Amino acid sequence: MIPDGLLVLRSAFAESRLMFRDRDRLERYAAGQAAAQMRWLAVHSPYTAQRLREAELSPLEWRSLPPIGKAEMMGHFDTLNTAGLRLEDVLAVARRAESSRDFTPTLPGPAGPVTVGLSSGTSGTQGAFLVSRAERLQWAGVILRRLLPPPWPAALLKRQRVAFLLRAEGGLYRSVQGRRIDFRFFDLLRPVSELAAGLSAYRPTLLIGPPSVLRALLTAGAAAAPERVVAVAEVLEQVDRALLEAGFGPVVQVYQATEGLLALPCPHGHLHLNEAHVHFDWEDLGGGYLRPVITDLRRRTQPVVRHRLDDLLVLGGGCTCGLAARRVERIAGRQDDALLLPGAAGESVTVWPDFIRGAMNLLAGLREYRAEQTGADTLRLSLDPDTGEGRASAEREVRAALRRCGADADRVRLEFVPLAAPDADAPVPRAKRRRVARLWTP
Ligand SMILES: [Zn+2]
Repeated sequence: MIPDGLLVLRSAFAESRLMFRDRDRLERYAAGQAAAQMRWLAVHSPYTAQRLREAELSPLEWRSLPPIGKAEMMGHFDTLNTAGLRLEDVLAVARRAESSRDFTPTLPGPAGPVTVGLSSGTSGTQGAFLVSRAERLQWAGVILRRLLPPPWPAALLKRQRVAFLLRAEGGLYRSVQGRRIDFRFFDLLRPVSELAAGLSAYRPTLLIGPPSVLRALLTAGAAAAPERVVAVAEVLEQVDRALLEAGFGPVVQVYQATEGLLALPCPHGHLHLNEAHVHFDWEDLGGGYLRPVITDLRRRTQPVVRHRLDDLLVLGGGCTCGLAARRVERIAGRQDDALLLPGAAGESVTVWPDFIRGAMNLLAGLREYRAEQTGADTLRLSLDPDTGEGRASAEREVRAALRRCGADADRVRLEFVPLAAPDADAPVPRAKRRRVARLWTP
């Protein structure tokens, strides 16, 4: 078997050739990948074959498939995956691994062991996902190629220590150890103070984790001076960026869901869709907001074909870096979290989390906040620091943002409550942190 480190490097070098600067070449490459992927899946993934059959489509007409979501993916898990695994067994292994803190739970697949992860989704169905060794190492190679500080490949000549701070799916990433490059996975179920000490001792050159976790470690006294901090799994907000840059160093953002690696930063600091590996279709929700329907062009253990995400994106124009993959202007947030507030004419108006985040990020010196809709016309705000002046500015900015979205800002009640203090000895919370959320359902 080829050693892990070598596979990662091979994937990293291959990635160099997939960073297309010509849109036509990128699209031709992706179309070829898609055709090969769909022909293979039509044979090996019974549920994918069933979807094609029910829609009366050939594998090459996959773009006309009706989209599915997490519920369908879980509902047809046993016949969707190509490793012949049953959801029941997968969940049992994953839960046992979580309680025993063994982060590399595997099940036997036809092409070697398959790693099992549970998605830390915030609502509804719990997601389980499967990744083969090859897929895991390929992922690491892409991350490495895109995120090691340039120039490539000279960056490899330096000794690199890569720290991954990830949730229970972390088993997926605990893979590479070599002479030049060392990846270390930090178990997020350990107390924050312990993690902070471990991270300081490791002295990473590349530090990868969710912004909320990185911040918690900083607060708990972690000292590290990586060349780069990579924010994954959560939207990176201005308040976090400023703190992390001051505490650790330059911050870049990766946009990843359990369904796939969706966007990566370019050397100019902008996010670009990962279009050489994932095909994006869009549902237009108006006002520039697009909901992605994604198809993974490479991962085969658990296929992702015309899969609708809950996140909303706003795409941007071209980028000065010259990459052909489209630029993500911003990640507006999850549709589940969009606030539903009364409009001027009594109708219900959607306020995307993005607008509230924008308003809060205007407040000088704000370290932390929450904004939660708790009733038909009630928005609960928590601020840190929590001062009279801060509350007045928050109220002003939030009301202005509501008005911009067409909500009747005067009818919305703003309630201020203190923010619960974090506990340094507790593990990092399992659920993804959401600063803006709708807790009320109509
Ligand atoms: Zn760019």
